[in-house]
Amino acid sequence: MSKNLMEKMTVTAGWRDLTPAAQVLGEGNSVYFLTGEWRTETPVWKKEQCKQCLFCFPVCPDSSIPVANSKRDEFDLDHCKGCGICAKVCPFGAISMKAPGKEASK
Ligand code: SF4
Ligand code: SF4
Repeated sequence: MSKNLMEKMTVTAGWRDLTPAAQVLGEGNSVYFLTGEWRTETPVWKKEQCKQCLFCFPVCPDSSIPVANSKRDEFDLDHCKGCGICAKVCPFGAISMKAPGKEASK
């Protein structure tokens, strides 16, 4: 990055003042990316074991566990990156991670 660009990067800099890459992509572009395409493992929700405690949804870094009427719904696999945090926190074993071409873990 050139010194000129570094000098422009201040707390009050807008997106047009930032790097050329940011200018090419423009603002608000993340809604157009299906970040779930990067996923290696896929979470599998075992509805019959789910107690709707909702421990899983606030820990998802990608907001990929939709909740409506105080109940979680199926994963948003367009944006889930397969980190597995939800499976770790579920106290009822209602989420398992599935590797490509393999069965879901217990
Ligand atoms: S695997 Fe990670 S990104 Fe996907 S739903 Fe679970 S917590 Fe969210
Ligand atoms: S943490 Fe487990 S039991 Fe609780 S809502 Fe999520 S999937 Fe269901």
